[in-house]
Amino acid sequence: MIQLVLVGAAGRMGRAVEQAVAGSSGFVIKAQVDRAERRLAGAPGWTVDAAEVLGAGDVAIEFSDPAACAALAMLCAERGAGLVSGTTGLDAAQDEVVCAAARRVAVVRGANFSLGVAVLRRALRTALAALPSGWDVEIVERHHRHKADCPSGTALALVADIRLGGEGGAPRFGRGQGRTGPRAVGEIGVHSVRGGTWVGDHTVLLAGEGEWLELRHVAQDRLAFAHGALAAARFVAVAAPGLYTLEDVLAAGSGRP
Ligand code: NAD
Repeated sequence: MIQLVLVGAAGRMGRAVEQAVAGSSGFVIKAQVDRAERRLAGAPGWTVDAAEVLGAGDVAIEFSDPAACAALAMLCAERGAGLVSGTTGLDAAQDEVVCAAARRVAVVRGANFSLGVAVLRRALRTALAALPSGWDVEIVERHHRHKADCPSGTALALVADIRLGGEGGAPRFGRGQGRTGPRAVGEIGVHSVRGGTWVGDHTVLLAGEGEWLELRHVAQDRLAFAHGALAAARFVAVAAPGLYTLEDVLAAGSGRP
């Protein structure tokens, strides 16, 4: 049995992970961690401090907040616990803390734990390799009105994929207003829409002369991310120290729990 410590447990993703665990085997929730005002008063198994509960060999799954993510990564490294980290919007210093932790314990980090987005990223690489240069790339992401960071971590990961493939220049976040002029050659347009209850929607538009195509992923339910996080937890429980991605989890055949 893999002992899980869920951090951000009272949040949207924390609750989805709890639900996914209830429908899976091989996991036990050892503790749920959240801020005092969010947790259920007096509920057993809840704490405000992961340090009270996290032990060697446990796996922490966090969907919380950038500062909480960095603090948890340090704690995991100290205690010898694996980490599955899904929080987006970390700054460079927080990112470095997570990388440092991954030198001591196994960490799977990802802006998007859905299987569909992993496939979207592969499909995008294939499409870009097959198209001639000069096609314009625009990314449109849509999320619920409460999302704290912008653009989404997934949109930034898509930008990084495109640039890694040598297919794009600098990202341009929004098109501004007024006489913004023609589109610069090679730029990657990134547009963020916020509202309602969208769980997560990413479209990559590839536009050529007289034709275009789009690749789109829509997450309808946070369980899509939660199942990926559990697959990552299975992987982390037996992996050597290092920083891994969902691609590594899928390549290792950990699959869906
Ligand atoms: P949310 O606001 O619903 O939940 C976050 C929870 O973290 C809250 O309950 C909050 O109280 C808690 N929290 C904040 N600081 C804490 C601390 N110091 N200690 C313990 N708990 C703390 O947000 P959400 O929609 O669940 O998203 C959380 C994060 O996960 C965001 O960064 C979001 O972008 C990201 N996310 C990632 C994926 C993915 O697949 N990687 C999917 C969805 C959301």
